[in-house]
Amino acid sequence: MGQLTPRQVALLTALAVGLVAAALLYFFMRSSGAFNLLWASVVGFAIIFGVAYFAFSFGIDRFVHSRIKVLYRTVHELKRSRKEPGGIDLSGDVLGKVNAEVSAWATERRTEIRELEEREAFRREFIGNLAHELKTPIFNIQGYILTLLEGGLEDEKVNRDFLNRASNGVDRLMKIVEDLDLITKLESGVMDLRITSMDLTELVTVTIENMEILSKEKQIDLVNELTPGLRVMADRYRMAQVFTNLFNNAINYGHTGGRCVVRSYPMDDQVLVEVADDGIGISEEHLPRLFERFYRVGKSRARNEGGSGLGLAIVKHIIDVQGGTINVKSAEGEGATFSFTLKLAV
Ligand code: ATP
Ligand code: MG
Repeated sequence: MGQLTPRQVALLTALAVGLVAAALLYFFMRSSGAFNLLWASVVGFAIIFGVAYFAFSFGIDRFVHSRIKVLYRTVHELKRSRKEPGGIDLSGDVLGKVNAEVSAWATERRTEIRELEEREAFRREFIGNLAHELKTPIFNIQGYILTLLEGGLEDEKVNRDFLNRASNGVDRLMKIVEDLDLITKLESGVMDLRITSMDLTELVTVTIENMEILSKEKQIDLVNELTPGLRVMADRYRMAQVFTNLFNNAINYGHTGGRCVVRSYPMDDQVLVEVADDGIGISEEHLPRLFERFYRVGKSRARNEGGSGLGLAIVKHIIDVQGGTINVKSAEGEGATFSFTLKLAV
């Protein structure tokens, strides 16, 4: 048997009271020898039952209201901001309903608190990372300028060199700020994407040409194996950035004489693009966090001084806002393969 509703409790109690009262009335009237015994008892029962039912309903309503009102109101007000719940409907299983609502509300609150805590931790880590990333170039610039001021300026052998180094530090600062600005714009959706039907194969060829000096220097062969004339719906400028960042990584974290190949695999209305290198690879424990901003794999900092860990965060954001997904497959010493989806142009 389920839980009784307040209405049912009132009904049953009134019924019991009515019956007892009618029985008492019956015996009292019989001993006093009154006429029409049965009718008098029925009428008496009906009156007492009616009065008792309303009295109990009212009493129970008030009791339940006073007990759960505050709770109910709190839940409802928080749920629908200022909207009044408009009283409590006591016709159903009110306690069960309140119970369910309160526990749903508590779960919702718990999730919200967890999200806020995560966001707070993320914010703290982000600011820490940012300060750390900015500190290195600022210290370098400060060092070179101080040396110049303390006499280096007059020394023909170092003045130009130190100024160049200070300028490189400023470039690095600029790159970090620009990258962060781009990520923020992509995240907040204020970045205007120009999605058009574009030739991805041609874009990759041009990007490879643009990176020739860098790739030749590190002797990494960038190879375009995309189907000729592969057309996708994407922002050409942003896609150039995606390939530049991925090729940069393949060059920075590749072995001399290595290769980085771009391939495509059509799937329905999408295409899977793969950028695979045979470089140093990434061990498994780093893969889940690889696309986070500022995330870098342990020793890569020493290997690549210029990197600030924003390249892949930007790549992921660009793919995301175009409606695609990105993945990475890698193992330490076995190269890395980045694959992402793009919409095919119709
Ligand atoms: P930035 O690209 O902002 O100049 P970065 O290269 O350090 O700096 P990401 O491109 O986001 O930052 O890469 C994050 C980290 O992932 C790198 O520091 C590197 O350790 C690792 N990584 C990225 N691509 C590769 C790759 N192809 N092979 C091996 N490790 C890689
Ligand atoms: Mg990079």
